[in-house]
Amino acid sequence: MNRFELTRLPFIKKILKSRYPQLAVFIVMLVGYIFAILAGLIGSPVGSRNFSIVFVWIAWWAVLILVAVPFFGRGWCAVCPIPLPSEWLQRGAVLSPPDKKPKWFNLRWPKFLRNIWMQNISFLLLALFSSVLLTTPNITGIVLAAMLVAAIGLSMVFERRSFCRYLCPVGGFIGLYSQTAPIELRIKDKQVCVTCDGKPCYNGSENGYGCPWDVFPGGLTRNTYCGLCMECIRTCPHDNIAINLRPFSADLAKPSTRMDEAFKAFIMLGSSMIYAGVLLGPWGTFKDAAYNVGTSVWLVYVIIFLAIIFIILPGLFALGILKTKSALPLKQRFASLATALIPLGLMFWVAFSLSFVLTNASYIIASLSDPLGLGWNLFGTANAAWQPLLTTILAPAQTLALVGGLIWSARTAQKAADKIKTSSIPVIAFCFMTTLVMMWLLL
Ligand code: SF4
Ligand code: SF4
Ligand code: SF4
Repeated sequence: MNRFELTRLPFIKKILKSRYPQLAVFIVMLVGYIFAILAGLIGSPVGSRNFSIVFVWIAWWAVLILVAVPFFGRGWCAVCPIPLPSEWLQRGAVLSPPDKKPKWFNLRWPKFLRNIWMQNISFLLLALFSSVLLTTPNITGIVLAAMLVAAIGLSMVFERRSFCRYLCPVGGFIGLYSQTAPIELRIKDKQVCVTCDGKPCYNGSENGYGCPWDVFPGGLTRNTYCGLCMECIRTCPHDNIAINLRPFSADLAKPSTRMDEAFKAFIMLGSSMIYAGVLLGPWGTFKDAAYNVGTSVWLVYVIIFLAIIFIILPGLFALGILKTKSALPLKQRFASLATALIPLGLMFWVAFSLSFVLTNASYIIASLSDPLGLGWNLFGTANAAWQPLLTTILAPAQTLALVGGLIWSARTAQKAADKIKTSSIPVIAFCFMTTLVMMWLLL
C-alpha cells in the first residue's frame, strides 16, 4: 500500500525530535484546560455564556470530531494536556529523563483490566449524564478537574500512562476511529528492531522515555493504542521510526477480533443515534427524560439507552450474521465484522456534530470577549447575537457524510468478510438500515 514518509522531510523530523515545540503547545493547552476548569467553577452558570461549555463542548468538540480524529487520528492525544501533570510527576522531569527517577509504586496495570471495557464504561457514564454535563458549567469544571486528578492518582500507582490507555473516556473512541486516519506512526524496518539492543523505544534511554502507552513500537500494526507522543522518535537509536501518510482506513484491512473493541463500535454508533434523537429531535419527552437526571423518567431513559447499545443494535447485527456460512465461531465473526461499523460510526458523529456545532458556533464569538460570563467585553464581541451558521449547507453536508459513511462501511464490510471468508451482505444491510434511521433523525 502506498505510503509517504513525512519524517523524511528534515524540518518535520527536527520539530518532532525536539521536545520544545511540543512543550510549547502543551503549555498553551494546559493553561486553556485549567482556565476551562476555573471558568466552569467560578464563571456564569449560564452554559452559553461560559468558556468551559462553549470552548470545550462546542469549539474543542468541533475540532476533534470534524478535523483532528478523521485526519490526524490520535493527533489530539499528541497535545492533550490531561496526562501532563501526572507524567511530569511520575518522571520527576518536564523535559529529558532525569538522572534520578522518583520512587513511585510503578506497578503494572492489572492483567484482567488490560482492555478498553473501563473506557467503554467511563464513556457511557459521561454519555448518560451528558445533558447536564453539556449545559452546566460547574459540572463540566468538576469533570475536567476529576480527569486531571484521576490521571495524577493512577500515575503515582501504575507505570506509564494507565489513565490514557485504560480509563480515558475520550481516548477510547479516538483510538477506535484513529484507525481510519490517513496518518500512522510505524517502524521502517522490522529486521532492525529484531537485532536492536535494549529496545530503548519501549524501555527508555538517556534520550527519552520508554513508550508511555505501553506499546512496543516495533510491533505496531494499528493506530489504536499509539498516543503519538513522539517519544520513540527520540529514543530509537537507529532512526527506525517513521510518520507516514497513507490511504484512509488502512488499519481496517486487518479486522480486530476483540469484543471490547467491537462493543466500542456499537457504543459509539448507538450513542450518536440516541443523541441525534434526543438532543436534536422534536421529541420533548425524550429531552425531558435525559435532562431530569436522577428522576424515574431519567432511569427509563438510561435503561432504553443501554438496551439500544448493548442489546438491540448488537442483537440485530448478530441475528443478521447468525446464518452466514463461515468456519469461524459467531463471537469471532461478530468482532471481526463489527470493524465495518467504525467508518459508519465516525461519519454518524460527523453528521450529528455538524448540526450541533453549526447551531451553537456563534456562542464562541461572544464567549471570546466574556469567557466567564461576568459582563466583560474584551474584544467588543460580547453581545454578538446567537445565530445558526451555514444553515443552507447543513443538510447537504450531513447527507454527504451519511452516504459517504455507508459506502465506506460497505467497502470495509466486504474486506472484513473476505478476510474471514463469509458474506458481507447482512453487515451492509445493517449499515444501510442504521443509516436510514440516522437520516430520518437528522434531516
Ligand atoms: S487518552 Fe485521553 S487523556 Fe490521554 S491523551 Fe488522549 S484524550 Fe488525553
Ligand atoms: S529502538 Fe528503534 S530499532 Fe530498536 S526496537 Fe525500538 S524501534 Fe526498533
Ligand atoms: S512512544 Fe511511540 S509508539 Fe509509544 S505512544 Fe509514543 S509515539 Fe506511539
